[in-house]
Amino acid sequence: MTGLTPSARRPIRRLAPETVERIAAGEVVERPASVVKELVENAVDAGAMAITVRIEGGGIDRIEVADDGAGIPPEELELAVERHATSKLDPEGPVEEIATLGFRGEALAAIASVARLRLLSRPADREVGEGLSRVGGASAGRFAAPRAPGTTVEVEDLFFNTPARRKFLKSAAAEQVDVAQTLERMYLARPNLTLRLEAEGRELATYPATPELRDAATRVLGPEFLHGSFSIEGAVPGGRLYGALGRPSVAAASSRGLYLAVNGRPIVSRPLQQAVRAAFGDYLPRTRFPVGVLHLELGPDRFDVNVHPTKREVRFARERELAEAVRVRVREGLIGTPQVAEVAGAALSAGAFRPGRQATAGRELPFRPRAAPSSAEAPAHQRTLEGATPSGPATEVSAQPGHPRLRLLGCLEALYWAAESDDGLVLIDQHAASERVLFDLLLRDRPLSRQTLVEPVTVRLTGAQRAALKAHGPAVAQSGFDVEPFGPETYRVRSVPSFRGRRARPEAVTELLDELAGGGRPTTPDGLSERRAATPACHAAIRAGDVVSAEEFSRVLASLYALPEAAYACPHGRPILLAIPRSRLDRWFLRSGP
Ligand code: ADP
Ligand code: MG
Repeated sequence: MTGLTPSARRPIRRLAPETVERIAAGEVVERPASVVKELVENAVDAGAMAITVRIEGGGIDRIEVADDGAGIPPEELELAVERHATSKLDPEGPVEEIATLGFRGEALAAIASVARLRLLSRPADREVGEGLSRVGGASAGRFAAPRAPGTTVEVEDLFFNTPARRKFLKSAAAEQVDVAQTLERMYLARPNLTLRLEAEGRELATYPATPELRDAATRVLGPEFLHGSFSIEGAVPGGRLYGALGRPSVAAASSRGLYLAVNGRPIVSRPLQQAVRAAFGDYLPRTRFPVGVLHLELGPDRFDVNVHPTKREVRFARERELAEAVRVRVREGLIGTPQVAEVAGAALSAGAFRPGRQATAGRELPFRPRAAPSSAEAPAHQRTLEGATPSGPATEVSAQPGHPRLRLLGCLEALYWAAESDDGLVLIDQHAASERVLFDLLLRDRPLSRQTLVEPVTVRLTGAQRAALKAHGPAVAQSGFDVEPFGPETYRVRSVPSFRGRRARPEAVTELLDELAGGGRPTTPDGLSERRAATPACHAAIRAGDVVSAEEFSRVLASLYALPEAAYACPHGRPILLAIPRSRLDRWFLRSGP
């Protein structure tokens, strides 16, 4: 705090160049992952096809990046580690049209000023490699060593001369994770590269070059992504968009699984991130985020990378227009894919069925055909239904474009229906299916049927809930809830939404009002109407445990099939249908052919 006392004023003096260097280095080199990012970018700019990264102590102790790129001629080695010296821009500019990942000419200088650096390089037309060493920015000699064409940069003892910075580093394990993620971001922006990561002398990960973006994404996001994803391709203002995104069933708990790239440069962009999330809208619960890779190819006048020294943040010209186009393209891709999610290979392997269970399956699984319509009010525990096996058209749902023909076989635990399609077995969540149908009715402003309560129920509303009721009165009424003022803070619920004899709890109106009052969902054009619809739909829907006849449920499915958009998730984002293709069954049961 002494520095703040007025008497401590000292004369203005010029900082030593090394001090300037170290201050500036902080902008580019924050942690081992930022060193790796800069060195890998240099390798990519040099035309490398294979890049190997070796780290020790999370990269704090040592980082080595070796490439098979064009190399640096020996007479330029000194310039390479000099600040503001680059081979990627004309000395006089322009700086607007940049095709390389680097262009500021400061990364090597910055890294050299806060670590011990060795640079060894051999252009293809030379016999040996030549190199130089730097310690904290100061020259520490040159050397020659044999090497295949390409460049190796070694960085040791990061921040050895700036202990304050070193204190801000995380544990070696955490830094290592950041390094791996840095490579994954680069790989997904340039899947034509082969990237290798070794830690403490052992291979940690390999990302092999592939022409298929979806294969690269699968390598990073996991095997479920391969079957659980859909492709996107289309025009956006000033360029085009393509990529692969996970269906709602493979979404993640954070927004970090969505990788964006512009012209082969990994980027972060909140507006674009939000546009993708908005496209998923009602298909994902608020706590889930889309995963996948999106590539933009844009003209150089459409974006500016010279916004931040790390160049990860970019600015787009006409950003809202671009974000809206991205949202529309992603939405098209999402609703254009078949609604039935296929069971992922890893999720259900033969080993998932334990032998003991299999042996008794025939007798003990509560998996029985459903018969005649039961009373809608049948108690939930009354699950064993006797009677003839259902057959005939009543339990069939005919095919619609994008939807398989289904014949209902039976229901498990008054929740999951099993159905036969032309291609195998389909499982359906009865609550999610009926919730989706009601949600859509409400979205399209069709009022739900309501049931008047014999005895109105009094509920107490908070200030925010009362304000929401005032602001959205008509929407609340349309949902089937009839609410009228009773006391200063209490209200009476006179009617509730109902569906096929089932009705919502009167108290659920408070949840609807909470939804209307706020919610963390990113703003979407349809955001409010979705919120208005989700709660009543959920509460009026057939629930888990409700006993439903096959005839009745086939009518729910027919309504689901009639929806204007293929719907494979309930309004909270849980999947509705799951398909297990015949071919997969055959594999499980070790049958080779049909
Ligand atoms: P920038 O990448 O912005 O030009 P750097 O400080 O990262 O600045 O690198 C300085 C120069 O060193 C680059 O312009 C390039 O000519 C050369 N260079 C750095 N790394 C490599 C590499 N791996 N292969 C070939 N040349 C490299
Ligand atoms: Mg660079």
